[in-house]
Amino acid sequence: MRTGIATVCLSGTLKEKMQACAIAGFDGIEIFEQDLVTSPLSPENVRTMAADLGLGLDLYQPFRDFDGVTPDLLKANLRRAEAKFKLMSRLGMDTILVCSNVATATIDDDAVRAEQLAQLAGLAGDHGVKVAYEALAWGKYVNDYEHAYRLVEMVDHPNLGTCLDSFHILSRDWDTAPIEQINPEKIFFVQVADAPKLSMDVLSWSRHYRVFPGEGQFALAKFMGHVVRAGYTGPVSLEVFNDVFRQSDVERTAVDAMRSLIWLEEQSAKWLADNAGNAPEGAPAAGGAHRRRYPMELATLPKVNEPAGFNFAEVKADDTAQLEKLLGQLGFGFEGRHRTKDVQLWTMGQARVIINEQAAQHAEPCIAALGFDVDSPVIASARAQQLKAPVVARKVQADEEVFQGISAPDSTEIFLCQGSPDGTAAWTHEFGEGLEHARSAHNAVIDHVNLAQPWQHFDEAVLFYTSALALEPQPFAEVPSPSGLVRSQVMETADGAVRLVLNLAPVQQGHAPKTYQEHIAFAVDDLVATARAARDRGLDFLQIPANYYEDLDARFDLAPDFLATLRELNLLYDRDADGEFLHFYTATVGSVFFEMVERRGSYNGYGAPNAPVRHAVQYDSLHR
Ligand code: MG
Ligand code: MG
Repeated sequence: MRTGIATVCLSGTLKEKMQACAIAGFDGIEIFEQDLVTSPLSPENVRTMAADLGLGLDLYQPFRDFDGVTPDLLKANLRRAEAKFKLMSRLGMDTILVCSNVATATIDDDAVRAEQLAQLAGLAGDHGVKVAYEALAWGKYVNDYEHAYRLVEMVDHPNLGTCLDSFHILSRDWDTAPIEQINPEKIFFVQVADAPKLSMDVLSWSRHYRVFPGEGQFALAKFMGHVVRAGYTGPVSLEVFNDVFRQSDVERTAVDAMRSLIWLEEQSAKWLADNAGNAPEGAPAAGGAHRRRYPMELATLPKVNEPAGFNFAEVKADDTAQLEKLLGQLGFGFEGRHRTKDVQLWTMGQARVIINEQAAQHAEPCIAALGFDVDSPVIASARAQQLKAPVVARKVQADEEVFQGISAPDSTEIFLCQGSPDGTAAWTHEFGEGLEHARSAHNAVIDHVNLAQPWQHFDEAVLFYTSALALEPQPFAEVPSPSGLVRSQVMETADGAVRLVLNLAPVQQGHAPKTYQEHIAFAVDDLVATARAARDRGLDFLQIPANYYEDLDARFDLAPDFLATLRELNLLYDRDADGEFLHFYTATVGSVFFEMVERRGSYNGYGAPNAPVRHAVQYDSLHR
């Protein structure tokens, strides 16, 4: 698959954008007109630079408001087009995007449109240019890709074809299956963009909220599957208008973009394999025994299953005293120090917490790393690296477990660990001489981990965990807090063994204390007993206001004894059709706090109705 990206996706100057695209490994780019118009580089300079960088200049765009106009306007439009065709010759480019008219069209007649597009195609032919005509979702008369293609067929000129843009097609919910009926010679270009499902006017949605594939909710693998079945072999190019990407670091965004295409390529191949049975007769494919072959070759990636569970969570701190105290009060046992590193291991049942003092000078306690159980750490690591995840190197001594590590977009280190059926971890023998402690009677596992994401890396994080770790994004929620609305995105495995909550932290103002924190939640079998034991050990619970319990009683009509227990122990409660959820929080140390939860029945949530209470109490304790 030939990869491409429109310069409008990125921040910076044209030169910076082109360099970043080359570093990220794109085959080609679309030159967005405004990037050229505002550039000090001459068209010849751009052409030379692209050649030096090994980048194809695949599409010049956009040319707007051409068709369906009065004769006077048509004359002006053809003059304007000819100037662009001459410019393209200096750039060494041969394909231009012409969007369906949104502003100046006054004649709603296919015969007129076809006649005018024929004139454009003729002129383009004189200049060796191909015109890719695209239906914009908000086009005045042409807003449907099948309509655009009908016009291309009516004109029937070798220099006129169509451009398929996933946003314009999927935002209008057009059926994508008819793409397969399009003559592949007439598909001059394919643009892909994802988007969250929003109900707003489609123009604003398109201009501000497009995201890279895998970061939104569009069925892009299916869209691409139909494109591939049609027999298309040209560039698959990202055209993503996004307010955040346009102000983020250009090289980083280009890598995020490239990751999205690598992932989409794999997902498209998977869709084709899964839907081989319903491929139409006469598709341009030579049928193999198991897999049809199409003219476009799709690369695949090392295959991974979703992780089987958390292997460990790691907290980094310079002064570890408060963390040790909290874990001890919760019922964790100290298993000892690592034999060669300044690292401690604490466990409760199968929940393992590492406290890392290395390289933590003056660092307030924070969540630094997560370990996931995978079938094969090497395969999982190879996959992540092919998806351009940065590798994390950890020093190991001979005969110590070598962890395959990658860095997540918020720089949390992700370790891919060998899972074991009994939930133990081979590396724990590297720790020793812990305190004698009565083994806690309570079993526990890491239930979920909640990480605060910097606003400019939030979408990137969703794609990272989707593509590299095979976690499924769930519909996002918005939680009110005193410092702003917190966007909360759950990423989880189908069986719920791994649950990661990504929270988009409100922007911190000035030197205000850090108002957003991260936490690790542990699931136990008997939360009330765990809470009582923790209280007896002197745990500092997050104090829940009395108003909360009155509201809880009003909503759920709880037994008085049970309500009294919740109130006495600062426990929070939720219930839905699947079951019940009890939980409590500790006070915060640095930017970390812990949560203990008990899931009853098949409750699958996170106590979302209680999150605003937690945010408000934490805010209050910081500003007291
Ligand atoms: Mg487009
Ligand atoms: Mg939680």
